[in-house]
Amino acid sequence: MEKKNIDWANLGFSYIQTDFRFVANYKNGAWDEGALTEDANVVINECACVLQYAQTVFEGMKAYTTADGRIVTFRPDLNGERMEQSAKRLEMPVFPKDKFVEAVLKTIRANEAYVPPYGSGATLYVRPFLFGSNSVIGVKPAEEYQFRVFTTPVGPYFKGGVKPLTIRVSDFDRAAPRGTGHIKAGLNYAMSLYAIMDAHKQGYDENMYLDASTRTKVEETGGANFLFVTKDGKVVTPKSDSILPSITRRSLMQVAREYLGLEAEEREVYADELKDFAECGLCGTAAVISPVGKVVNHGNEICFPSGMNQMGPVTQKLYDTLTGIQMGTIKAPEGWVVEV
Ligand SMILES: *Cc1c(COP(=O)(O)O)cnc(C)c1O
Repeated sequence: MEKKNIDWANLGFSYIQTDFRFVANYKNGAWDEGALTEDANVVINECACVLQYAQTVFEGMKAYTTADGRIVTFRPDLNGERMEQSAKRLEMPVFPKDKFVEAVLKTIRANEAYVPPYGSGATLYVRPFLFGSNSVIGVKPAEEYQFRVFTTPVGPYFKGGVKPLTIRVSDFDRAAPRGTGHIKAGLNYAMSLYAIMDAHKQGYDENMYLDASTRTKVEETGGANFLFVTKDGKVVTPKSDSILPSITRRSLMQVAREYLGLEAEEREVYADELKDFAECGLCGTAAVISPVGKVVNHGNEICFPSGMNQMGPVTQKLYDTLTGIQMGTIKAPEGWVVEV
């Protein structure tokens, strides 16, 4: 397979159109077979439910080349399961997870020329999504839906080395208790745009959101879960019903226990405890872990001992182990690395 002529190492994180995408339609109560198409545009009515009432959910994953030259993706079954949960919460028909995985693999295969080579640091980002496509003016779920999967090559996350982030405790809330924080819906992102632009204006990389009801507990950022390391080397992640269940975070917790022999605990984390942690990181598909060097809580600066120049030692081990598993240099648990 001839690769596209792309400067992989200098790619950013922006949309580059690739050759094929998968499209399936739901009509009269059933999904059609779906197929690959070269048409990157979606034509829908001006009154489509997704445009008026934001009835849409999505997933994010990546395909990459392992050390021994295989094209793989990471735990796609969990993305499929999560999209089922997201769809149910927004009254959308489920796109079954086995069909989801099949569609993802098919789309990656069709765009093989865009899967970056091993060692480039770049990956092929995969974006499955689902939206209500027919016209709806009275508030109700759509009757027709489209499921699509497209891919776009993205560059190395840590270009020019790792730079720990500075984040602020946000005065905005991300998710209501018993709301939609636990599903991957576009609506959670629409309402975070103001807060992230404001954070950037004030010189911060990200917002740390607290629980909306008491504003005392750490939840997550706009698009990544937190991991903390205590001074005695225990890995801790916040537990809450309004956090998006990150596949990266769940994998890292298992890596901590089973590969590194660390204690790993999911529990409520209070903003007051931040000063007691040794390390902090953000986890998600894009970066695996981005280290956080500093949290600013209304003028009170909390600087983690790991500093502003590198990942903390435990964060680094977690990162190296999970990326080693993904790249095929460390033996993966059954089913984690799926060959395309
Ligand atoms: C997608 C997402 C994450 C990260 O999830 P992964 O499955 O690890 O990519 C975390 N938080 C939010 C709000 C997200 O939308």
